[in-house]
Amino acid sequence: MIQESIMHARRLLAEKQEIVIFSHRNPDGDAVGSSLGLMHYLRGEGHKCQVIVPSGYPAFLSFLPEVDTMLVFDDAPEAAQQVIDAATLFFILDFNSFERIDKVAEGMKDDDRPRIMIDHHLFPEPIADPIFSRPEASSTCELVYEFIVNLGHKDRVTAAISDCLYTGILTDTGGFKYSTSPDLFHTAAELLRAGTDAYKIADHVWNSQTEKQLRLLGHCLVNRMELLPEYRTGIIYLNKQDYDAFDIQRGDTEGIVNYVLRMPEYMIAAFIHEQPKIVKLSLRSKGNMDVQQIAKAHFRGGGHRNAAGGASFAPLGSTINRFKKQLPKYADEIETTYLEFNNQ
Ligand code: 5GP
Ligand code: MN
Repeated sequence: MIQESIMHARRLLAEKQEIVIFSHRNPDGDAVGSSLGLMHYLRGEGHKCQVIVPSGYPAFLSFLPEVDTMLVFDDAPEAAQQVIDAATLFFILDFNSFERIDKVAEGMKDDDRPRIMIDHHLFPEPIADPIFSRPEASSTCELVYEFIVNLGHKDRVTAAISDCLYTGILTDTGGFKYSTSPDLFHTAAELLRAGTDAYKIADHVWNSQTEKQLRLLGHCLVNRMELLPEYRTGIIYLNKQDYDAFDIQRGDTEGIVNYVLRMPEYMIAAFIHEQPKIVKLSLRSKGNMDVQQIAKAHFRGGGHRNAAGGASFAPLGSTINRFKKQLPKYADEIETTYLEFNNQ
């Protein structure tokens, strides 16, 4: 991390602050893990600290220490606003554009209270200073660990902190499958030394499915998967009727998109699903195939090269067609990256 930025952060943290940590809508393991991990660290340093997320977190994260202290803006806007109004310092974690926290960010653009960003998404917007951004990092949790180490406080990483950070690393790498590096495994080793039980966390993360979720996965693979072998792309979609029939709640569809990529010939997976007001897209890819550009160019979205998302205000059918219509533009890239991926 850039030493000047670390010094800047150190100066901000030299006084006792009232800190609000923001993370993004539909927070995942990395968003919640990094926010809570940092919260435990900052509270340990004597700061007041509160995590605020726009919407609720998936049930499998309920085991994280003090996850129930997070404020969900959708559920308690007034309480959250009060804490925001009293804050003297903000952290922006696992996102880099105010769009990702929509109404929570109201007024933030012109707010001159200091903000620190720690994030691993591409193209951070200049909405904080200092900004700790490293898109090659596996996760924001990896960066929060680096941040604490760079502050000189490696020995202050408690088991509560390491449990939170290890969880986000595990989920954002799909179980140490993507975005790994020698440094990441080193960090994971340090987190285990700090007291994390890797087996316990893995059990919470991977063996937490409900019967409904497994049956929904079956439905998606049997009835809602459309394959476009010529573009090495598979689409899984869910409509409003599916949402009602399976009583799908947030988090129930997590991970389903990845099944398409279990077929070696496939490079792109799309999960396209109807939400009350919008149609959301989740895109995944292998190797150097970049789905972030597709999300950004056609669906007002973004993310990472291999995992991106976006949205559309058109009906489900038109959105699926719009997605399919873009594929010919990427046909060469799909083929090139496929060949490259298989020659490695
Ligand atoms: P997911 O498909 O799991 O919702 O998101 C995958 C990745 O894409 C996440 O890392 C997230 O940051 C990014 N992403 C998802 N939806 C959006 C969106 O609407 N806008 C932007 N900019 N990024 C998104
Ligand atoms: Mn992340």
